[in-house]
Amino acid sequence: MRTAEIFKDKKVLSLEIFPPRRTAPIDTIYHTLDELQGLNPDFISVTYGAGGSETNTATLEIASAIKNDYGIESVAHLPCINLTKNEVLDMLAGFKQAGVENILALRGDINPDFTPKQDFRYASDLVSFIKENGDFNIIGACYPEGHSECPNLVDDIRNLKTKVDAGTDQLITQLFFDNNYFYSFRERASIAGINVPIQAGIMPVVNKKQIERMVTLCGVELPKKFITMMKRYENNPIAMRDAGIAYAVDQIVDLMAQDVDGIHLYTMNNPYIAKKIYAAISALLAA
Ligand code: FAD
Repeated sequence: MRTAEIFKDKKVLSLEIFPPRRTAPIDTIYHTLDELQGLNPDFISVTYGAGGSETNTATLEIASAIKNDYGIESVAHLPCINLTKNEVLDMLAGFKQAGVENILALRGDINPDFTPKQDFRYASDLVSFIKENGDFNIIGACYPEGHSECPNLVDDIRNLKTKVDAGTDQLITQLFFDNNYFYSFRERASIAGINVPIQAGIMPVVNKKQIERMVTLCGVELPKKFITMMKRYENNPIAMRDAGIAYAVDQIVDLMAQDVDGIHLYTMNNPYIAKKIYAAISALLAA
């Protein structure tokens, strides 16, 4: 099923997982999926490391298992910066054969250790290429606080409009910790004529290290309330975990009340946290 269709009937809840690290056996992800299955997500997406080729087959293998063994709609992430057109064609053939109908079309982060292949410059180039070469539901990434490389929010929205016009069917945001950024972004998108569903990406924070990495990587702002919470609990892992869950639930309740199209939960492959959040918001999804 094309995941964009689901928004016509309900608030969408999706989960994001990543393939196990190279040193871990692939089976560990199936234990995680066994537990996530009970949350009845509308779809589960599987990330893909843009830097090299190690996780290529893992993304396809896991997305295929989600769809065919777990009976849950799956989304395969596909960052294009280090791929040639022929490599993308091979991957599209693999997705088609596995019955994976949904692709999160990405550029990928520029890795100083790899010279980008020159076939795709932006995610919108990949969106057009997929449209020309297959019949897939295409999802795009978007950034409530603006993408870190873009000099201003106006250009970022213009570039997003180009990506949507190229054939993007739905959007998922980068994580954010202040919902006001999401509401302003949604308004800018609407003014720009971007009318596809926009899911809010929510990442529950479980430890200080994780959040420091995220801030460096994504450049998102931490609200005062959040920083106070981290300072108070940073040396108490259980309290920090529970405070992170409560913060994410609070964000989601506010987003649902403000009629968000859906929530995309960055699970960090942690079923305990995903289950706690689901238990707190499941009635809201049905309301
Ligand atoms: P683009 O849409 O191409 O945008 C990149 C930059 O280029 C932006 O600053 C944009 O404003 C600018 N731009 C776009 N078009 C133009 C144009 N025509 N002219 C000038 N400037 C332009 N990365 C991974 O490697 N693997 C993953 O699995 C992964 N999953 C992700 C999932 C989500 C939900 C999100 C939000 C991000 C994910 N990323 C992943 C990270 C993503 O690859 C990076 O954020 C990357 O830096 C940008 O990717 P993009 O697809 O948004 O790029």
